[in-house]
Amino acid sequence: MLSLTTQDVKMGQTLADKQAVISALAEWLEQDGNVAAGYADGMLAREAQTATYLGQGIAIPHGTQECRHLVKQTGIKALHLPDGVDWGDGEKAYLVLGIAAGSDEHLELLRRLARALSRDDLAEQVRRAESRQDILRLLQGEEESSQAPVLGWRREWMRTGVEATSLAALQRAACELLNADDTERQALQASSLHLGQGWWLSQAPASGEPRAALVTTTGFEHSGQPVRALLALAVNGNGHRPLLAQLADWLLADKGQALAAMADSTALHTALARGPHAPGEDGLADNQRLVVVRNHQGLHARPGAMMVQIAKQFEADIRVRNLDGDGHDVNGKSLMKLIGLGVRPGHQLLLTAEGPDAAAALEQLVTAINEGLGEDVMPVAAGPTLVHQVQDIAPDTEMRGVGASPGTAIGPLFVEVPVHFDYPDTACDAGAEQRRLKAALAQADTDLAAAAEATHEPQARDILSMHRELLGDPALAEGAQARLQRGASAPAAWWSEIDSAATRQAASPNAMLAERAADIRDIGRRVMAILCDTPLPQTPNAPYIWVAEDIGPSDVVNMNAELVLGLVTAGGGPSSHSAILARSLGIPALVAMGGAVMGLKSGTQAILNGDAGTLHVAPTNRVLEQAKARQAQERQLAEQAWEHRNQAAVTTDGHRLEVGANLGDTAKTAAAVESGAEGVGLLRTEFVFMGRSQAPDLAQQQAEYDKAFTVLNGRPLVARTLDVGGDKPLPYWPVPKEDNPFLGVRGIRLCMQQPELLETQLRALLTAAGDRPLRIMFPMVADWSEWRFAKEMFERVQAEVQAADVQLGIMVEVPSAALNAQLFAQDADFFSIGTNDLTQYTLAADRGNGELAALSDGLHPAVLRLIAMTVEAAHAQGKWVGVCGELGADPQALPLLLGLGVDEVSVSPGRVPLVKARVRECSLARCKDLAAKALRARDAQTVRALTGEIQ
Ligand code: PEP
Ligand code: MG
Repeated sequence: MLSLTTQDVKMGQTLADKQAVISALAEWLEQDGNVAAGYADGMLAREAQTATYLGQGIAIPHGTQECRHLVKQTGIKALHLPDGVDWGDGEKAYLVLGIAAGSDEHLELLRRLARALSRDDLAEQVRRAESRQDILRLLQGEEESSQAPVLGWRREWMRTGVEATSLAALQRAACELLNADDTERQALQASSLHLGQGWWLSQAPASGEPRAALVTTTGFEHSGQPVRALLALAVNGNGHRPLLAQLADWLLADKGQALAAMADSTALHTALARGPHAPGEDGLADNQRLVVVRNHQGLHARPGAMMVQIAKQFEADIRVRNLDGDGHDVNGKSLMKLIGLGVRPGHQLLLTAEGPDAAAALEQLVTAINEGLGEDVMPVAAGPTLVHQVQDIAPDTEMRGVGASPGTAIGPLFVEVPVHFDYPDTACDAGAEQRRLKAALAQADTDLAAAAEATHEPQARDILSMHRELLGDPALAEGAQARLQRGASAPAAWWSEIDSAATRQAASPNAMLAERAADIRDIGRRVMAILCDTPLPQTPNAPYIWVAEDIGPSDVVNMNAELVLGLVTAGGGPSSHSAILARSLGIPALVAMGGAVMGLKSGTQAILNGDAGTLHVAPTNRVLEQAKARQAQERQLAEQAWEHRNQAAVTTDGHRLEVGANLGDTAKTAAAVESGAEGVGLLRTEFVFMGRSQAPDLAQQQAEYDKAFTVLNGRPLVARTLDVGGDKPLPYWPVPKEDNPFLGVRGIRLCMQQPELLETQLRALLTAAGDRPLRIMFPMVADWSEWRFAKEMFERVQAEVQAADVQLGIMVEVPSAALNAQLFAQDADFFSIGTNDLTQYTLAADRGNGELAALSDGLHPAVLRLIAMTVEAAHAQGKWVGVCGELGADPQALPLLLGLGVDEVSVSPGRVPLVKARVRECSLARCKDLAAKALRARDAQTVRALTGEIQ
């Protein structure tokens, strides 16, 4: 997210005009590496479309969509202009914020600014500001931040028709929706107040974020009073007052009973937002109109400014409410208030006008909003999923992301866009709708059964049969049935039921169960596709580059690798497990491309460059030819490397590096040996434990490991003991939902909670090894006690099994293990550095978070220092060090790892020949010089630039 620091503000500037201000800002952004040359033209072009004056003396120039490719790194720079600069329409800007944003990060900044701008005297305060701190303080909107945030109604916190016969049961249902903790639960159950007309209130202090749940029921009595609905509030401060005021409106209008009888949470949510006085068929008063915003980025500054201009032409007082936001009204003639509504594509606005020309004002506003307020609009998203508008990308556009798997892919895109379903909310014939739903459910079940029959993949078969199980769950059918009886159409009833079941599931404190929410939505969509006669996207049967919001490890496992030329995701990070899988399959991949990639048209020709991190869309013939030449060269290099794959990796000055293979499955051992791997440097043993309904027993594990030893034929096997938790849960080992799973109970920490599981694994490994070379290492060791626990268990088992050739090591992937390497080196036989996690924990950057992809670079000098410390400590004790993280396969990193003294690297089998070839190009002496320089560098970028010097 964009944010401003004091470094980004220059005070007391004097510049002649708007153009000079924009040029100065663009130049500054360019100097700081945020944009490439030419961005100033884009900013001026945006200005020509609409002035970026926000209000209160503040302007926010930023580039047009077309110049986004010039943005290298999002950033913001501010110039304070106490004399003011004319920003058009007679407005003077005293503070100008120049924004470089590759996607729509600036919208959040605008929202925050909008809050600050609600201060009436802000322009004057900004003009008179004396320091950079003053500016930051003013922009933070201090006055508002001291108040509790306004709490809004949320559909997912509403549930209608709950079967309950006591107030306590209703409170329990509300607590479940709120995901209340024990303290909140107790306080909510101890509080009950009858507001009237069967509406009850339970209120408790919130332990975390404030939340408000609404549950309605068919009716019973409590203490002689009717119970029809309960509002449960977990709140602090007074941010919930607007909610109480809206509910009070209904009770004062004597319509509490009608409100409690609303058919479903959508109806209840809309009714509360519209208020009790909305007559007419569409539920609106004469002076109200409802309109859906269909701009790609919602109501941001530019369309917002146009809306304000229209509103200002009328005398009528115009109020605007975002029915999908927090439900409060704002003045339709204030740009900052409008932006503060946080209107996203598909959100509904309720416009209310009062005054002599109210009708004309509404008419004109609705027409203008429907026409996009000067922008292109996308179709209305009336279905359960968001629609991505296909953009007409200019030919020859290069989009930038983060390379996650090297290589070039050329081919048509297949953009896996979430499907949009169109359907009426209500129907007159409940019986007919019920039959429709029943038929659709039966059809979906038949389809699932056929798919399970057709697949040869056991994991896929398990998932499909679990989906059949879910589909037949009577609770879903009953929930949908109740909605049909209340007049909902079959798709509306089915989707509302799916939506609330998935929401409840996602709130489960058990991480594994919470993950089932995705499966519920999956079967939900399958049935919706039948009901709405809208086919779900079919993957092409000719080779393609797959573009998706995110691709999970299971998608990669299940995809047809023959057809997928490359992978591109809007989110994700380079060391997320799906990226690792892509690398292991040798498929070029890009991650963290941003949402814009989802707007690309399927079938468009593109070039994916996994090394440069770019996607070139609709390239010119010249660019295409260049890419084909590069691809041919890559193939040639790969072929040469393949030819020499069985030779050792020796530098030009005679130093040998061992190259092993990383395996996530023993079935790939033969492929690893075939690629020239000198052993398995990392066996991720999780695979033995995954895809099962219970933990594998000793014999099953032993058989798996034995397969690898047999194929390795005397080469060493480095097995990492079970590393689950974090982003890798196990179905039969429920791990409580954690706020920070990567900092939670994972790896060795989890094994310490079930020692018998680790003991069985050690026994299976040692027994399978016999007299063959086995290296065992433990993941996520952060503390001496963990290592001692693991080592003592190992010694106990080894005393019984007596395997002949075993070493015991530590995975260095937590900074504390590297910092204490001297201590560990006295006791362990070897270290293997897990650079994926080591980078994540050193830089506090989630390895799966695309936003942080550039930061989480294993070539950061801080990570290199930890590697150097580890190697030094190990070598002082005569122990060896490997690198099994993804850094080992990075051609730029390899000379540095050599120079730092690493003895072995382990990479995905497909990369083994290339890594060996790269080592043969290097001289150890030069690598050592390079490493010394890199350790003194200030950041990863500088280190990468240094590596270019060693060729
Ligand atoms: C690592 O963290 O670098 C590593 C090899 O382990 P994993 O990627 O399986 O967490
Ligand atoms: Mg790891």
